[in-house]
Amino acid sequence: MHSHYVGRFAPSPTGPLHFGSLVSALASYLDAKANKGTWLLRIEDVDETRCKSSYTQAIIECLSSYQLISDQPIILQSQRTHLYQAYLDRLIKQNLAFPCNCTRQTLNAMQGKHLNVCDSNIEQPHSWRLVIQEGLFQCIDPIQGNLHFSLNRLTTCPVLKRKDELFSYQLAVVIDDNKQGITHIVRGADLLDTTDTQLYLYHLFGWPPPSMAHIPLILDPNKQKISKQNHACALPYGNLSVLKAALSYLHIPDTGSQTIQETLEHALIHWSFTPLKNQKTLDIHEKHAYLAHQNTV
Ligand code: GLU
Repeated sequence: MHSHYVGRFAPSPTGPLHFGSLVSALASYLDAKANKGTWLLRIEDVDETRCKSSYTQAIIECLSSYQLISDQPIILQSQRTHLYQAYLDRLIKQNLAFPCNCTRQTLNAMQGKHLNVCDSNIEQPHSWRLVIQEGLFQCIDPIQGNLHFSLNRLTTCPVLKRKDELFSYQLAVVIDDNKQGITHIVRGADLLDTTDTQLYLYHLFGWPPPSMAHIPLILDPNKQKISKQNHACALPYGNLSVLKAALSYLHIPDTGSQTIQETLEHALIHWSFTPLKNQKTLDIHEKHAYLAHQNTV
């Protein structure tokens, strides 16, 4: 039977992949493949000031060394700005986006919050912000449970396009997930904070949101998020024991397979969200610290 499941992994090439990225990539891949779906890789390089094409190349190569290969040509957000502009124009026409050239000082006076539409001069360099309305969104996350998001929680009107003309992650991710026909998002719980604005944008564009699952936060032995800022080390290419270590945090037992391909095939048989439920964090053991943090090598 043809499965209507399209999943994706969408890294930002601001550095090489790290161990936490492998765990997230595997979760999205295994869920797509266990559901006989399509799995796509999308490069979220919309912020040209932080992304590098050398990292894009390294990310694609590293993922393919673990046999994580996109089922369709890889999309780069940096080549899709015309699309983001078209949807921003639509929001502007509907008075759902407004220009803003408030300075840091004016925003500081409001504790950095921007909750009202301002009357910025459109002739001056300005950003575009999203108008916030009342709204309550619900999503049933197969790992985190029933999630409720109130737009009242938003502390600022999110930026859709920056003063330097770069589009925001929030706008680009929603447009691309919809245009690529993504039906299921599996990603890290660090992105839960972005979900309310994304659900709101789906609502404004009149698009049904995909199903969303957030795997628990992956923490290094110092209880820090594994991230470039916390000196995460670059993931080695095509390393079987690293793959098995990553799978162990997804509760997939080591069945003694000898190749990456066989390991992934076995992982598919064991894949389930269930053991991840009620788990707040995925804590990296001391024995894997060297994979999480450069300083511990
Ligand atoms: N590009 C985002 C990141 O690397 C992830 C986007 C998403 O999965 O929604 O953090």
